[in-house]
Amino acid sequence: MALNLVMLGPPGAGKGTQAERFAREHGIPKVSTGDILREAVHSGSELGEKVRAVMERGELVGDDLIIGIVRERLLQPDAVAGFVLDGFPRTAKQAGALDEITAARGPVICIEIQVPDEELVRRVRGRRVCEDCGANADAFEHKANALPDLCQNTDRCRSVGPKWVARSDDSEAVVRERLKIYWRDTRPMIEFYSSRPTFRRIDGLQTPEQVREALVAAVASALGTPASQLRSLVMQKLSGVKSGETATPGGARQGNKL
Ligand code: AMP
Repeated sequence: MALNLVMLGPPGAGKGTQAERFAREHGIPKVSTGDILREAVHSGSELGEKVRAVMERGELVGDDLIIGIVRERLLQPDAVAGFVLDGFPRTAKQAGALDEITAARGPVICIEIQVPDEELVRRVRGRRVCEDCGANADAFEHKANALPDLCQNTDRCRSVGPKWVARSDDSEAVVRERLKIYWRDTRPMIEFYSSRPTFRRIDGLQTPEQVREALVAAVASALGTPASQLRSLVMQKLSGVKSGETATPGGARQGNKL
């Protein structure tokens, strides 16, 4: 069985940080659509030029574009044994596409991190990201000139340290716009997911460590597997793939299309 995880929740709920850690600890890739798009903007690619203004306004990029990006990414060999999706799906159409993409891959676990709006605005105003590797830090928790030396994801980060910047779409006005879009487009989709047996909610007001523990427990309970065995699921799946196992078409398809 693969370990397919979707992190749901509003901007600033902590999805990225938790997704990053869960993915690292369980040997599966984190697929963040926001990171993919920011990287495209940063590199000045054609995709980046297409999405830059939309992102700066806090709006959503087109469904077909983002669905194509995710489809291609999840077909890569490193995602066969599982993935952690962060920032996708965000609309009913994207959720329908994810059902179709994952139909033969076993159950998709959907975890919603819940945080009240005012706390989200506070967090996002203090959020800093490493320009190179996308790691997150909270400027309110750390003295402004002493942000942590946490990100080790690229050669540059390992050698010269993180380059902390505020995201251009993290101003208060843009955050409020993103929350408005979240309540309008994404929240109804989450309500739809909530009727599935593999859906769980966790309290995002806990400390990051408590959220991490709650996340692992929620994934384990949704899969009916002890938390200590989650990683071995990935290993078994990888060895099955290497020895020629094929995915079961339609296996554990979950529920209706949106
Ligand atoms: P995030 O880092 O997930 O908050 O995403 C940053 C921005 O990227 C969003 O405000 C959107 O403009 C764009 N974006 C990321 N993921 C999606 C998605 N699934 N659908 C549409 N736009 C997205």
